[in-house]
Amino acid sequence: MRFHVITLFPDLVNSYLSESILARAINEKKISVLFYNPRDFVKPTKVQKGKEKPYLRVDNKPYGGGPGMVIEAEPVLKAIEVALRRCEVRGARLEKKSKKIVLKTRNSKLAPKIVFFSPDGKNFDTKYAKNSVKKYSDIILICGRYEGIDSRVKKIFKMENISVGPYVLTGGEIPAMILIDSISRQIEGVLGNFDSREEEREASSEMYTRPEVIAYKGKKYKVPKVLLSGNHKDIEEWRKTH
Ligand code: SAM
Repeated sequence: MRFHVITLFPDLVNSYLSESILARAINEKKISVLFYNPRDFVKPTKVQKGKEKPYLRVDNKPYGGGPGMVIEAEPVLKAIEVALRRCEVRGARLEKKSKKIVLKTRNSKLAPKIVFFSPDGKNFDTKYAKNSVKKYSDIILICGRYEGIDSRVKKIFKMENISVGPYVLTGGEIPAMILIDSISRQIEGVLGNFDSREEEREASSEMYTRPEVIAYKGKKYKVPKVLLSGNHKDIEEWRKTH
């Protein structure tokens, strides 16, 4: 599985990917994550007084007024094109279908999915993660910032609006990390033991490990007896309700 992340802040996502299970998955080539920064697709402004470098402006005021700034469509479109070209190398080709551009391929697994993050999108869940692994080998994740991205991007390329929850974040990078994490653990070989995925067994949110008894401020806290019983049937029953 290849994730293509379009973001103004690749380091945010990269820091999460450089530790623990996902770092190992990348090292073992179970997944790969490629970054595309819309700033790389804009013309630099003249160097401003007192500044060392030219400014790479990607945002502008919203039409119709209102607070904040909107990310311009063009640098995002260019970033999508570069990501799609990488997918084309794998055997898919760009085609126009009902006014939108889609990637066509004989092998449906080669057609990438494009995800546009938005708080009012369709809710992301485990079912979505599992389906993504079955259907796609490339997923393009578009991270918004500020007041979001010019909506024409969604009109030009076929993509899916996805939300990671009923709250508003400052950007799409955390949603991208959530998708990469959740989808990756559905790929065989990413977790040490594939069957250890909670969603495939009776798992409880109550977990205990050694020691059997903890004393804290004069009070003793014990591990529930059933977990020490060795009776797997009883343990499974207990886990259904805890
Ligand atoms: N009014 C904007 C909108 O509805 O898209 C809010 C923009 S929000 C401050 C900035 C960006 O964060 C969004 O463009 C989106 O990419 C991302 N974002 C924020 N909350 C999100 C959520 N719950 N799910 C998915 N993406 C979210």
